Amino acid sequence: MAPVASSKHFDYLIIGAGSGGIASAKKAASFGAKVAVIESGPIGGTCVNVGCVPKKIMFCAASIKEVLDHDARANYGFDFNEPTFNWPKLKQARDAYIKRLNGLYISGLDKVDVTTILGSAKFKSATEVEVEGTHAGVYSAERILIACGGRPKTLGIPGEELAIDSDGFFLLEELPKSCCVIGAGYIAVEMAGILNALGCETTLVIRKEKVLRSFDETISEILTEEIKSSGIKLVTNATPKKLFKNGDGSLGVETAAGTLDNFQVVLNAIGRIPNTDRLSLDKCGVAVDKDQHVIVDEYQRTNVDSIFSLGDCTGKWLLTPVAIAAGRRLSRRLYNKETDLKLEYHNIPTVVFSHPPIGTVGYTEQEAVDLFGRDNLKIYKTTFTNMYFAMSERKQKTTMKLICLKTQNEKVIGLHMIGLNCDEMLQGFSVAVKMGATKAQFDDTVALHPTASEELVTMT
Ligand SMILES: Cc1cc2nc3c(=O)[nH]c(=O)nc-3n(C[C@H](O)[C@H](O)[C@H](O)COP(=O)(O)OP(=O)(O)OC[C@H]3O[C@@H](n4cnc5c(N)ncnc54)[C@H](O)[C@@H]3O)c2cc1C
Repeated sequence: MAPVASSKHFDYLIIGAGSGGIASAKKAASFGAKVAVIESGPIGGTCVNVGCVPKKIMFCAASIKEVLDHDARANYGFDFNEPTFNWPKLKQARDAYIKRLNGLYISGLDKVDVTTILGSAKFKSATEVEVEGTHAGVYSAERILIACGGRPKTLGIPGEELAIDSDGFFLLEELPKSCCVIGAGYIAVEMAGILNALGCETTLVIRKEKVLRSFDETISEILTEEIKSSGIKLVTNATPKKLFKNGDGSLGVETAAGTLDNFQVVLNAIGRIPNTDRLSLDKCGVAVDKDQHVIVDEYQRTNVDSIFSLGDCTGKWLLTPVAIAAGRRLSRRLYNKETDLKLEYHNIPTVVFSHPPIGTVGYTEQEAVDLFGRDNLKIYKTTFTNMYFAMSERKQKTTMKLICLKTQNEKVIGLHMIGLNCDEMLQGFSVAVKMGATKAQFDDTVALHPTASEELVTMT
């Protein structure tokens, strides 16, 4: 890492070397701006260290285990002794990979002459930031970007300190024998799915009837059923009231639906809060909403002229590629005279690495009904068994849904799917949806056979 320059004034000073901060920093530097990023934790932020990357590695491990447990021997002719799974070995390899990525991020910033300032930042004024830590000092800039991300929300109930959160999941040294996961969002269902597939006795506690309630209703319903049939114990209508520890060290959760007991680990995954509370925003006057998210307009501008914000701390589409796309566009607008450039926050594809995985883009059915009226929509839906399961006792289903707008030539305005490999199918189809493809254009595309994705271009 390059030493911090004696000059502490920059064109562009960025708080947070996560997905959004790094992307914006590198892009601005490529146009000749003098840029610095301030980071209080490991370089790369949530995605690399405690988010997408280590999570996907665990999902891959869980998927391998599913194949070994259910299909390889029973249906595909393999013969082997009972496979063993070594969590510490996987953790060691995963941690080493992430360390390599941290190094690559640091050298990537160095290569384009972005200064990396290590320490924790807070505002002194609208153009000055004070840093505590390795590179302590006061730094100033023409423009400042708040890209400070977020952290797991605590439960806010007695005994909450007994639970680990999603950061703690990646610190587990052993696969727990039993785990109670609290939460109905994507992080909760992903982690519950991983633990269950790897052999942990898993309970998932949710406040209402279904998981992923903000997703299309079909997806939410099917995943809820899949979770139940996967072996996870799903406890519904069970708002947690209290966590407690038994004499033998095991943990329990008191909920509105009764007491759940004898867990080795309780994992709280109820959501995330922005890191804005640690920035002394009162010193610069940047406005936040009731949940402490920075309020920005479509150009990532805050209410203070010199200060911008993006990524998780603004509370919209908490996804790595969204933070990156917003960061790059902002820098092109500010430092490359692309005056109208901004990220369009619609038709953003989303994948959930649940078991089975989900891919979704565009309006949910309910959103489409609310916006356009049911009579103006044509909805296509198919459910089938992926050929992978043709040989298998378990017949996991795939469901796909296209929401089309009758008044615009059946333009596809929503595409939702759940089933094997739907995570890998979505990206290409999201290009079509973003370009405004119609159902006829989907149908006019020659199918790929035999694949599951061919169903998307052959729906009647
Ligand atoms: C378990 C989990 C799984 C996820 N899986 C996916 C996935 O599969 N796909 C996907 O697209 N997204 C996923 N995400 C979301 C993704 O990680 C975030 O959307 C993304 O990292 C947001 O980028 P960001 O730049 O806004 O913030 P971050 O990446 O969080 O970066 C913010 C950085 O700012 C630093 N910081 C905060 N305050 C200060 C301060 N005062 N001074 C200095 N530095 C500070 C933090 O240390 C952090 O490094 C996942 C998240 C989690 C938690």
